Amino acid sequence: MTYDHLTTWLEIDLGAIRSNIHQLQKITQKPIMAIVKANGYGHGLVESARAAQQAGCGWCGVARIEEALALRQAGLTLNILVLGYTAPPCAAEAAAHRISLAVYDLDVAQAYAAKASAGGTELRVHAKFDSGMARLGVFPEDGLPFMQQLHAIQGLSVEGMFTHFARSDEPERTTTAWQNGRFSALVKALTAAGLRPPLVHAANSAAALYFPEAYYDMVRCGISIYGLHPSASEARLPEGFIPALTWKARLSSVKIIPAHHGVGYAYRYTTQKEERIGVVTAGYADGMRRRHEINAALVGGRRVPVVGGVCMDQIMLQLDTLPNARIGDEVVLIGRQGEATLAAEDLAQAWGTVNYDVVCGLTARVPRIYHE
Ligand SMILES: *Cc1c(COP(=O)(O)O)cnc(C)c1O
Repeated sequence: MTYDHLTTWLEIDLGAIRSNIHQLQKITQKPIMAIVKANGYGHGLVESARAAQQAGCGWCGVARIEEALALRQAGLTLNILVLGYTAPPCAAEAAAHRISLAVYDLDVAQAYAAKASAGGTELRVHAKFDSGMARLGVFPEDGLPFMQQLHAIQGLSVEGMFTHFARSDEPERTTTAWQNGRFSALVKALTAAGLRPPLVHAANSAAALYFPEAYYDMVRCGISIYGLHPSASEARLPEGFIPALTWKARLSSVKIIPAHHGVGYAYRYTTQKEERIGVVTAGYADGMRRRHEINAALVGGRRVPVVGGVCMDQIMLQLDTLPNARIGDEVVLIGRQGEATLAAEDLAQAWGTVNYDVVCGLTARVPRIYHE
């Protein structure tokens, strides 16, 4: 399929997302909460959640209440958990739209209950525990009295409890085992006290692949449903997962630049001889990073270097190896072209970051094209 009218765009394979979820279901034998925060890691919030719902996910997770409300507005019916902080004034809307909130503070929980009960609906909450990440959550050692008091608040329904791992994508398992030990001790104590909520969950993608002890009732998978490795070097996906996203652009110019001529702002590149220089219709305002001289792109099934720095809307390529390159030719910035591949993980390595950051950084102005 060609998209002659587009200059730079993402093609997103929803079948790949569904297939990756099926793989995770097969591996874990547990319900998957599909994590679709941050615009579905750049893949589209609503479309990713819909693909997850079609793949049989009963749950999805987002970071913010706004994301959850956008999903309800789009007509999605699966359960939604807001993983991060929600301000109390939003609690009535959350309850009205059957959106579950994370709680880890009793005063905030009280404020939620006051707002929610004004609307006459119970608010569903998942208690968040800090088993060692030192981010959000109650310490598991304080978990029993916390849960007793949480259960006692009128207007709240304690539906779940969860924790999050700091180092599950690393080969050393001692931190994850320690965190999981603290959390599972609390689950055991709550079970004995008759306070264990129906949905206990802990594992992210890396733990879903490498730490079955942390499965409980559900696993929360983000990066893996998009076919991206939790860690390219230390927690790779097994065979069979498919990257769902391809980033494309076009050549907007191909011409011969004279020898010893500067190219682009600040003349970051100088031609050594007459050189064929192409211009591409994507830049840092689309999600390319300003890491001059280390970026690459695929043209004509070949990897070619970016030269002369990264501009806001454009980059330049050295095309001496491609004498037939023409204006309008398709350029792949993430994905495959013929035999050549440029993975999100390759860009992450070049940019000194992680693949999560690469795909989340693809900006709103880049149109998303969906393939079923
Ligand atoms: C983002 C997030 C996840 C998903 O993590 P992945 O590594 O993308 O699978 C799971 N749980 C919480 C609390 C998160 O914030």
